[in-house]
This record gives sequence, C-alpha cells and structure tokens, in this order.
Amino acid sequence: MEEKSIFEKIIDNEIKANVIYEDELVIAIEDINPVAPIHILVIPKKKIATINDIDNEDEALIGHIIVTAKNIAKDLGINQNGYRLVFNTNDDGGQTVYHIHLHLLGGRKMTWPPG
Ligand code: 5GP
Repeated sequence: MEEKSIFEKIIDNEIKANVIYEDELVIAIEDINPVAPIHILVIPKKKIATINDIDNEDEALIGHIIVTAKNIAKDLGINQNGYRLVFNTNDDGGQTVYHIHLHLLGGRKMTWPPG
C-alpha cells in the first residue's frame, strides 16, 4: 500500500494538529509553519494528490472546501479586511504535500505577484 501523506496521518489521528474545523468531508488545521498571522489548511478527507487529479465527481467537494474556507475567514473576523486562498500545484506551484489542501492566508496585507 502507498505510504500515507502527512495529511492522511493527521486525518487518521496518527499525528496531532490544531484542528479549527472538521466535518465528514474536510478537516481544517493550523499550518505548522505559518507564513501569515492566520494560515489555515482546508484538506479534503478524500485523498486527491494534486488539483490535476480532480475528477468531475469531485466538483461538490471542491466547492465545499472553498465554502469552508470562507466560513472560517468569517469566524476569524478577516472576511472584511480580506484574505487569500491558494492551491499550490506540483513543483512550479510550490506544492510539497501531495494531498490537495487550500491555504487560507490572512491577518496581514498580501503582496502581488506572489514569489
Ligand atoms: P504546500 O507547500 O504543499 O502547498 O503546503 C503544505 C503545507 O503543509 C505547508 O505550508 C507546511 O507548512 C504544512 N505542513 C507540513 N507538514 C505539516 C504538519 O505536520 N502539520 C501541519 N499542521 N502542517 C504541515
């Protein structure tokens, strides 16, 4: 069997994380190495390696990930000031964990273009 990614281990409770939100489809955790005052990862429980691997049947799940991030941004009070949502994909995109996750970044002014 393929080795579990770090996020599968977190989903399966084998590794600890600060869980912000969880339901049957997703888990949202604080990033261990935050690059902004608020840095949360919204992770589907279904293993999908990269955005390239999304199937048509995953459309609702991807929508749920984004709605979850939006709800967390509101709960944390950054929705009016603003925030950034990012899916890094493959090497050029800066992806390091091959189990898709949406970065919710906020609490400071973001710059553009990103590095
Ligand atoms: P990527 O570079 O794949 O877009 O993002 C992976 C993110 O996962 C990084 O921001 C990294 O800090 C975070 N990360 C890696 N390992 C762990 C871990 O064990 N726990 C938590 N909470 N975050 C992790």
